[in-house]
Amino acid sequence: MRLVFLGTAAGQPTRTRNVSALALLFPEGGWWLVDCGEATQHRVREARLRPLRCERILLTHLHGDHCWGLPGMLLAIAIAGRREPLQVAGPRGLARFLDAALGVSGTELPYELEIRELPDEPRGEPLAGPGWRARPFAIRHRVPCVAWLIEEPPRPGRVDPARARALGIADPRLLGRLQRGETVTLADGRRIAPSAVLDPPPPPRRVLICGDTDDADAVIPHARGVDLVVREATYPAGMEAKAAQWGHSTAAMTGAFAARLAARRLVLTHFGGRHSDPERAAQLQREAAAAAPGVEVLVAEDLMRLEVARAAP
Ligand SMILES: [Zn+2]
Repeated sequence: MRLVFLGTAAGQPTRTRNVSALALLFPEGGWWLVDCGEATQHRVREARLRPLRCERILLTHLHGDHCWGLPGMLLAIAIAGRREPLQVAGPRGLARFLDAALGVSGTELPYELEIRELPDEPRGEPLAGPGWRARPFAIRHRVPCVAWLIEEPPRPGRVDPARARALGIADPRLLGRLQRGETVTLADGRRIAPSAVLDPPPPPRRVLICGDTDDADAVIPHARGVDLVVREATYPAGMEAKAAQWGHSTAAMTGAFAARLAARRLVLTHFGGRHSDPERAAQLQREAAAAAPGVEVLVAEDLMRLEVARAAP
């Protein structure tokens, strides 16, 4: 799976960074949007993502820099031709926000909007739906806010050709059935279970996307060892009081979080205007890395693409 950062600024856009939005592209073909700050649809087009293939929208919280682009995005999806229901999930207040924005503007969507308002303290109950799982966990901010844990569905291991050969199985139809998890009977009457020829299942990929927060520790027991965590680094060292006052993180707080999580990689995002130029972002990266030994720390840029590969089993 792949991430495309569509907005990496805090609060207000800068000349090079738009406000928060992130696309998750799945190997199966569709994509999800996590947060949808104002003008996100511009970045969607710049990233060459097709609105029609957007299959789900997840919000971390309802501050304007994370959701004021949503009504426009929903209309873009409609104009692209969507007629199937679309799930939009986020904290309480989401339905009221959309009712008002779509209602007063006289916008009628040609598809059903499945608005899923989260409980105030979600503890990881997955959203209904096929494919990858989306699990919200409450984290601390000034308004109800969540971290989304995105989990790959379990997949069977692959047929090991050497073991299949050793058992005398060469028929591709039989190999296909074993790959699909079926027990097969050979011409000589032997019954072969899939476990006799399949490699162990690959470790499912997991990505954690945190909304704005000054304390996301509640999610750690559920997300230990994630392949990738995305979390804000709104302030540099020396601004801890400001971070606490506004419910945000310094780069070092976020680095320490990734270390406690034993994440493989950390991507910093949500840079405050004065701290968003390349030089200062590099300083935030150093501060986070110093607090996160063993974790690869990256700085998000708008339109940056990042592949999430499977960890070696
Ligand atoms: Zn924000």
